[in-house]
Amino acid sequence: TKLFSARRSCTTCPYCGVGCGVAATRESSPATGEEVIRIQGDTQHPANFGKLCVKGSSLADTLGDQGRLLTPQLHGEECDWDTAMEFAASRLRATIDEHGPDSVAFYLSGQLLTEDYYVANKLMKGFIGTANVDTNSRLCMSSAVAAYKRAFGADAVPCNYDDLDEAELVVLIGSNAAWTHPILFQRMQAAKAKLVVIDPRGSVTTEMADLHLAITPGSDAALFNGLLHYLTESGALDQRFIDNHTENFADTLYAAAEWTPEKVAKYCSVDLEQLLEFYALYSRTEKTVSFYSQGVNQSSTGTDKNNTIINCHLATGRIGKPGCGPFSITGQPNAMGGREVGGLANMLAAHMDFTEDNIDRVGRFWSAAKMAQGPGLKAVELFDAVESGQIKAVWIMATNPAVSMPNARRVAAALKQCPTVIVSDCVGDTDTARCADLLLPATTWGEKTGTVTNSERRISRQKSFLPKPGAARHDWEIVCDVARRLGFGEAFAFESPADIFREHAALSGFENNREQARRAFDISALANISDQEYDFLTPVQWPVNGAHPQGTPRLFGDGDFYTPSGRARFIAVQPQCPKQETRDEYPLILNSGRLRDQWHTMTRTGRARKLLDHSEAPELHVHPQEASKFGIEDAQLVRVASEKGQFFGRARITASQKPGQLFAPIHWSDSLAHNATVSALAIPFTDPVSGQPELKQVAVKLEPL
Ligand code: SF4
Repeated sequence: TKLFSARRSCTTCPYCGVGCGVAATRESSPATGEEVIRIQGDTQHPANFGKLCVKGSSLADTLGDQGRLLTPQLHGEECDWDTAMEFAASRLRATIDEHGPDSVAFYLSGQLLTEDYYVANKLMKGFIGTANVDTNSRLCMSSAVAAYKRAFGADAVPCNYDDLDEAELVVLIGSNAAWTHPILFQRMQAAKAKLVVIDPRGSVTTEMADLHLAITPGSDAALFNGLLHYLTESGALDQRFIDNHTENFADTLYAAAEWTPEKVAKYCSVDLEQLLEFYALYSRTEKTVSFYSQGVNQSSTGTDKNNTIINCHLATGRIGKPGCGPFSITGQPNAMGGREVGGLANMLAAHMDFTEDNIDRVGRFWSAAKMAQGPGLKAVELFDAVESGQIKAVWIMATNPAVSMPNARRVAAALKQCPTVIVSDCVGDTDTARCADLLLPATTWGEKTGTVTNSERRISRQKSFLPKPGAARHDWEIVCDVARRLGFGEAFAFESPADIFREHAALSGFENNREQARRAFDISALANISDQEYDFLTPVQWPVNGAHPQGTPRLFGDGDFYTPSGRARFIAVQPQCPKQETRDEYPLILNSGRLRDQWHTMTRTGRARKLLDHSEAPELHVHPQEASKFGIEDAQLVRVASEKGQFFGRARITASQKPGQLFAPIHWSDSLAHNATVSALAIPFTDPVSGQPELKQVAVKLEPL
């Protein structure tokens, strides 16, 4: 068929935090009228230079109206937008009037665009007057945020993807990057850096590594305390950097001193020779990147673990230089953008904490009606408050907490008895949507326009190339409509995402100077861009301000940090075991994670046949020794139970697991298969600093069915 028209949009992949550029082309045939969407990697985008993984390259197969929520639904009945918006606004107003602002909450998502996030955060923290606005990013990277803030004084990722090209050693910690961040893994492989993987289980990533340390789950902090001790003993410290640019080194070294290689090897259950091989390699390789992800973060001590990794980079001065740095990789496409606007309950806006000065500053900038006066409830606390009745109205946007939260079935039960549950989503039948009083149809990838920020602080455009389906609206439009009905019309009179972005950029630079606590996140150079400049914004790394109008590829090259003293802080850490320990009744540890071809709860990737072919049903990975002990055959249906819930799956007997450990994918849920929600088993223990829940180590028992 001869194609007569082709329209190309450069946008960004909606899946992982790599943030690959995607070129979407709409092509149509005069003969059939049929329209085809062609997806290719954007060769100009610096994250991927034209490459896409299987999920990204299958995006065209996930488009279409099937399963989409196309009209608002109130108590299961279709309604018009006016009715839906009046219901939302009147319920929020009545709840606030009767029970105060802290009786309402928003739960957002790293799938939202920055502009959506910005207006939701502004409405809650500046106009409703509560900070009960948290996000599923809490489950993903909040410990990395907390650790960066402790060490650098700001949630500021020092590195960029070019550092992976230049590194001679990449240490992957708690990451199966070959599957979860495939384009970055390909870059590491192309660069031919030595790869060391620290992960309790074997994976495709460990198969391609030069060295795999299969540590005991949760023992990372001891491993890196031991590394700090080794670096000291082997004369590998950068004493000049320590003296001139850091503080608290002596206390940190004191805490690490007991972690001799012998003690670490025993504690982490790794071979001493292999451990020393890693330590020696790290010690002699100047260009080292530590690349870490959910295996480190999803822990009751995730912040401490992050800081032990950062400590080793500070001790060797391996930060702010090409090919070096502690590099936390986000799971979601816009976890970073959400952090930037204040999407976490403990942050105000533009990376500002809840200090008196900042509350006043942001209040003046917004001309706020009622400012939140302190941090709100973090994800686990937020749903606990829904259960206890303290939260009486919750609005959940673009996420599925009834599947993803620890003790997920209890979260679903809590939502079912909550007086007002509003859910905005692009799909209508999720475990969370089933708990909603009001369902609001939202646009999704391909239909929305705005910005996202990837793991290297790079802001890229997402662009629409498809019309809104049915009656769906953009999330920012829905929030602004409710804000107007609550009486805040003037502050939410945005006409486009570009309008919102300009205000967000202006706030980031508002009174940002050293005297008033300099902030890392500053994109004030973009505050006055035109609609056309916004439309053609080339991917750029923040800060983007007067000092760095073209953006900032790498931070801390000048040894100047965002702490009050300008020095980076070492953090002394006493390693602690995971809270969920095995015992007689629950003798095994269940780990969980992503598969190569699926994303989150499969609402999008589950539509593509090609992606489902990789793994059609939830499987439980079991070591042969455990299989024999519990009388389990390969492919047999098994039951895994914790004190919180149960999970059914088919056993896959594999030596990639260590004896005593199991692995299950996170993607399936009870609405897709019987007892398939793996998060339902987790006890919601959280990290005391970040509030991130311990999802990777759940004490369980196993039996054949
Ligand atoms: Fe999308 Fe991540 Fe794959 Fe890139 S690596 S195409 S961002 S899923």
